[in-house]
Amino acid sequence: MILRRAGRLELIEGPAPEPREGEVLLKTAHCALCRTDAKMWRQGHRDLELPRVPGHEVCGVVEGEPGHFVVWPGAACGHCGACLSGRENLCAAMRILGFHRDGGLADLVAVPRGSLVPVPHGLEGHLAVLAEPLACTLNAMDRVALGPGERVLILGGGPVGLLMGLAVLAARACPSIVDPDRRKLAKGRLFRLGTGIEASEAPGAGPWDVVVNAAPDGATVLEGISRVRKGGRFCLFSGLTSPEAVPVSWLNEIHYREIQVSGAYGCTREQMRRALGIIAAHRAGVEMLIEERVSLDHVTDSLSAIWDGRALKVVVDL
Ligand SMILES: [Zn+2]
Ligand SMILES: [Zn+2]
Repeated sequence: MILRRAGRLELIEGPAPEPREGEVLLKTAHCALCRTDAKMWRQGHRDLELPRVPGHEVCGVVEGEPGHFVVWPGAACGHCGACLSGRENLCAAMRILGFHRDGGLADLVAVPRGSLVPVPHGLEGHLAVLAEPLACTLNAMDRVALGPGERVLILGGGPVGLLMGLAVLAARACPSIVDPDRRKLAKGRLFRLGTGIEASEAPGAGPWDVVVNAAPDGATVLEGISRVRKGGRFCLFSGLTSPEAVPVSWLNEIHYREIQVSGAYGCTREQMRRALGIIAAHRAGVEMLIEERVSLDHVTDSLSAIWDGRALKVVVDL
């Protein structure tokens, strides 16, 4: 499936990709779709180079090797300051699968051997494929150095907010998801029942040690900053898509109440390994996060449902 330009996604027959030195050919088994894929298709993306096979949440097999692998979507140099400090997602030479190089919405994909992360024995591939988005939420919680018992307010009850709930539980902290959209909350209900994560239409009184935005509108960020306790942390997880200027009053909240603000973008291999373990421990709940499993010729329909906020996770089976 090839994205030629924003709005034009085509299913084509093409030659198999040629793995370069240090790469292997992965036979894709599953590729999950997310809002970033929908955004690329509708609007383009800062890091996207066209034309491109999209798909950065990938699980598959390598000929001659046992078991399944998920793919860390980065390709990092391994020797810059970011790589050496364990923050390889910030590598200066970063090349992202499905953005800078062809991704998983294809039968075959060439990936660096070092980007393969083995799936634990017995964990189904269609669940393992959610390791990438879960790992991105683990990165967010690593950025704010979340500790046991802390209370975390997650603004946004879509798939990312729900996965963020698992990342908070994994740190033995207490997640609370808020979304004003009742339909969205209803969609996540079975996942929340399976995992014991609570959610509501409006935030409780707090205090909130950490607040994170899992929705791309500026109003959510404004609200988030106002909810953090004095000296607490705010994580800007979803990039903002609306162009409004940030009010000075917002910045002054950070000043007067000594709020620490962290960005979070992408994930590391180590976070993907942890994510696989968390998925294996919450199998039944994670299954409830998958709204639909589709074939390649349904991708456009699924992307429009995701863009409109009508779908939880959609997994493409190849
Ligand atoms: Zn994604
Ligand atoms: Zn590097």
